[in-house]
Amino acid sequence: MKRWWGWLLCLLLGLTGCGSQAQTAALQPQLLNFSEKSSATLFMVGDALLHGAVYKQAQTDDGGYDFSEMTAVLGEITPQYDLCFYNQETILGGTALGLSSYPTFNSPQEFGDVMMGYGFNLVSLANNHTLDKGETGIRASLAYWANQEAMTAGSAGSFEERDALKIGEVNGITYTLLAYTYGTNGIPVPEGKEYLVNVYTKEMIAQDVERVREQVDVLIVSMHWGVEYTHTPTQEQREMAQFLADLGVDLVIGHHPHVIQPVEWIDDTLVYYSLGNLISAQDGLMRTIGLMGALTIEKTVTPAGVSIQLKEPKADLIFTDYEAGYRNLQLKTIDQLDESYQEIYQEYTSIITKEDASIQIGGIKQ
Ligand SMILES: [Zn+2]
Repeated sequence: MKRWWGWLLCLLLGLTGCGSQAQTAALQPQLLNFSEKSSATLFMVGDALLHGAVYKQAQTDDGGYDFSEMTAVLGEITPQYDLCFYNQETILGGTALGLSSYPTFNSPQEFGDVMMGYGFNLVSLANNHTLDKGETGIRASLAYWANQEAMTAGSAGSFEERDALKIGEVNGITYTLLAYTYGTNGIPVPEGKEYLVNVYTKEMIAQDVERVREQVDVLIVSMHWGVEYTHTPTQEQREMAQFLADLGVDLVIGHHPHVIQPVEWIDDTLVYYSLGNLISAQDGLMRTIGLMGALTIEKTVTPAGVSIQLKEPKADLIFTDYEAGYRNLQLKTIDQLDESYQEIYQEYTSIITKEDASIQIGGIKQ
């Protein structure tokens, strides 16, 4: 964009060079005041953790899987957003590999199909379950994602693929996604094949960020981090968030604790510490409540350069509602639940704003 502007400036100044000095003087202040704004919206949800109870409910008579009914509420939200992110916690190795639940998951690819149908176009593949089915599982998952339009990050089939720049563009705003996990549940990453899943070190992240930072307007980093079942970010999460902010990352999307954590600004970097579960058959109220986030990205182009601002960060809750025995599992927003949930809603949304009261609750589903 900077290059484009420079070219335009040269062209216009060049043209005025043929006219009188008065014309040039009249045009220059206009050029110097030139300012062009564009914007895009982003929506995000957390972990898709497909336990047996989730995919068994989705099974159809012909032996396929259809997740559209249990996730239908997402279709009421995503059409309003340009970019939609989620973390595919369990690999989509597909039925050919044999489906499995906790502790080593393999999930039906039809879940990805339904998410693609909703318009999810940013997907993290780096998490502690990425290696659940070894390299075979990852290759089956990557073969699936290679045929989808979404930008995936965090797992690749080679070093070349891992390091290839993926740059998306929406409304004239360029972006990319990087994704990392703290580990892989003790399953060792095959030596010499570290590209299969990004298990982060500060050095790795710094190198990756350095390579892409100047190539895009918006840099989004997905972090699978923290300690399970706590609403409070750990010291390590806070330290890494500060590290990412110092590197100039615009948005940090955190997940893994299976429960929600606060949202805060660190300088100009917006950090969602944990989105919690999007969908799962985990038990206990705290694990059935996920965080939905949304924001507007604004790009301003002036002769001085390009500036990016994340604006109006919002948050709301998404519930995995089910009956005894995980029957009739259904994603719901607060407007779809009865009065008895109001108190729960207040309690859990107060976790989100604990660090920063300026985060707006609600207004995501309109
Ligand atoms: Zn996890």
